[in-house]
Amino acid sequence: MSYLAKNYNRKKLSFKFGKGSYLYSTNNIKYLDFVQGIAVNSLGHSHPKLVKTIKHQSKKLWHVSNAFQIPEGEKLAKKLCQKTFANYVIFQNSGTEATEAAIKVARRYFYSIGKPNKNRILCIKNSFHGRTLAAIFASGSKKMTEGFGPKVTGFDHFNFGDHNSLKKKINKNTAAIMVETIMGEGGIKVIPDWCLKELRTLCNKKKILLILDEVQCGIGRSGDFFAFEKSKVKPDIVPIAKGIGGGFPIGAVLMNKKVASGMIPGTHGSTFGGNPLAMSVGNTVMDIISNKKFLNNVKSLSKYFLIKLNKIQKKYPNIIKQVRGKGLLIGIQLYKDQTEFIKKLIDNRLLTIRAAENVVRILPPLNVKKNEIDLAIKIIERVCLHIK
Ligand SMILES: *Cc1c(COP(=O)(O)O)cnc(C)c1O
Repeated sequence: MSYLAKNYNRKKLSFKFGKGSYLYSTNNIKYLDFVQGIAVNSLGHSHPKLVKTIKHQSKKLWHVSNAFQIPEGEKLAKKLCQKTFANYVIFQNSGTEATEAAIKVARRYFYSIGKPNKNRILCIKNSFHGRTLAAIFASGSKKMTEGFGPKVTGFDHFNFGDHNSLKKKINKNTAAIMVETIMGEGGIKVIPDWCLKELRTLCNKKKILLILDEVQCGIGRSGDFFAFEKSKVKPDIVPIAKGIGGGFPIGAVLMNKKVASGMIPGTHGSTFGGNPLAMSVGNTVMDIISNKKFLNNVKSLSKYFLIKLNKIQKKYPNIIKQVRGKGLLIGIQLYKDQTEFIKKLIDNRLLTIRAAENVVRILPPLNVKKNEIDLAIKIIERVCLHIK
């Protein structure tokens, strides 16, 4: 029996070790891992540079309190700000902490300018911002919030793509709109660039803040460092996590100078956030992923993968409804529930993961090789051929 609580319906599959795009199970089967810890292992398993960094830093210093200067964190914050819209960074340990911190930064900003009632956050219904109390009520999903009342108030919702409802829901107490630039758990739904631009214009007009949750789609996953980059939109606040640690838990909230003005000493903190061990790993990941050549390669791999997947879709139009996504955040939407499809992929040694709306979510490492994509394509095609 297992002494772990049953909050997960785990597959009977465990692993001994991983290398790059592959995982080796305890019963000696080699799997192509296109889950990568749900977009966490952005550079695959046991990347030599990350192994080296962690070995080196673990001999020097793991943890000190944020009461002291942490040069490794200063360095990573500087890189994040120089590469993006941001002026300041607060480090956390996970995605949900990062989105909560984003909410806190938004509220605190309006408080600091004498508008404490401007504190409501407008989110997409059935989005995903993490699993803490505030984050589940921000997501507005019945499944996630059921049994966890009393309700955390302060969140309003509109449906994805419903611009009229979005505009109607903004009132004098709205502080910010918070959306995922690409909905991950919600079924790989991309907010188009023109829409991001309209969101920014709307926020400017209403004098509210724009929070873009890039916990899943950020850090190179979309082919740009941030998924909103090509739209030229500048958000006010951006929570990140998953990919930035390459497998080591790191979260962060990035913000512009205006909103950072509310975060005076004592307003927020974290015991573990920004520790030297995490920050050294983050620096190495950042150096590799923020490189233009690396990101261009993600774009071209994505193009290659999407063309091949769309060919399969055309061949099996009764099974696959749509192939969608951006960069290496890809969803195959089926007509039917995806459980059996995912199981058959596993039987054929390809690991993928579900998302809402019957989507099979595909998250290769960002340094995946072309022949590994070819292998995945072969397996997906085989499953399409054999599934009923
Ligand atoms: C995964 C995710 C989170 C939560 O991250 P955790 O590290 O699991 O707390 C928040 N927002 C988005 C968009 C995510 O994909």
